Amino acid sequence: MAGPVLRVENLNIWYSEKHVVKNVSFEVPDRSVFALMGPSGSGKSTLLRALNRIIDLYEEARVEGHVYFDGIDIYAPDVDPTWVRRRIGMVFQHPNPFPHLSIYDNVAIGPRLNRMVKNKKELDELVRWALEKAFLWDEVKDRLHVPAAKLSGGQKQRLSIARALALKPRLLLMDEPTANLDPVATEKIEELVISLKKEIPIIIVTHNPQQAARISDYTAFLYMGELVEVGPTSRVFTEPRSKLTERYLLRQI
Ligand code: ADP
Ligand code: MG
Repeated sequence: MAGPVLRVENLNIWYSEKHVVKNVSFEVPDRSVFALMGPSGSGKSTLLRALNRIIDLYEEARVEGHVYFDGIDIYAPDVDPTWVRRRIGMVFQHPNPFPHLSIYDNVAIGPRLNRMVKNKKELDELVRWALEKAFLWDEVKDRLHVPAAKLSGGQKQRLSIARALALKPRLLLMDEPTANLDPVATEKIEELVISLKKEIPIIIVTHNPQQAARISDYTAFLYMGELVEVGPTSRVFTEPRSKLTERYLLRQI
């Protein structure tokens, strides 16, 4: 059995003096969807941003603790944060393709910058692969050269996912990717998350416990910066060990 893709150990995060993530530890098994749920302001986005060192770009943030990615401590002094961000992709709440770039170029830009392909044919294949994995290929294959701005909200979010996938990440982080989408667009993204996990494990932040229940194998509940509960989703939802989790699932907090 392979080890976990990610192991978080005693992680603490501050913004200036404000302690936002408090001594959090958990493991993310390979080939799984791991949901990080909790009310607004509980520190989900902050924690997620620390898992691929995007948080380094927030000047006022300070991180202590360890995050082991396939056994490598990504906060060790000799680790290049750019390498970490390339290997651990991220998708945000607001779909953010470059609106004036074509659908094709939005996906191709990462592989080009990182010199991942030798020629146009290889690039075409990689773009197609990423769009297929993001459940978007069939809808856009005849108009790859129209600007991304022409797409619907759900399509833009799937394009953001394709762009992240084109870098062939080992792990994908998603911060409330369906928060701004209608139920049909949401369902598509949930389906694609489930279909991806065999190849690419996913950590998804959600403030919607039903979404965690629908798509995840493991669920963690974060409340006021503390990891209240973590375990297999079926267990967390049927036999929560903490009163706080129970109250959250009953929508009392
Ligand atoms: P969530 O994603 O669960 O809503 P966040 O991680 O965004 O929670 O926020 C956790 C806490 O950190 C909140 O109190 C929020 O106001 C604060 N916070 C978030 N981002 C910053 C920042 N860049 N600077 C200072 N405080 C922040
Ligand atoms: Mg957030």
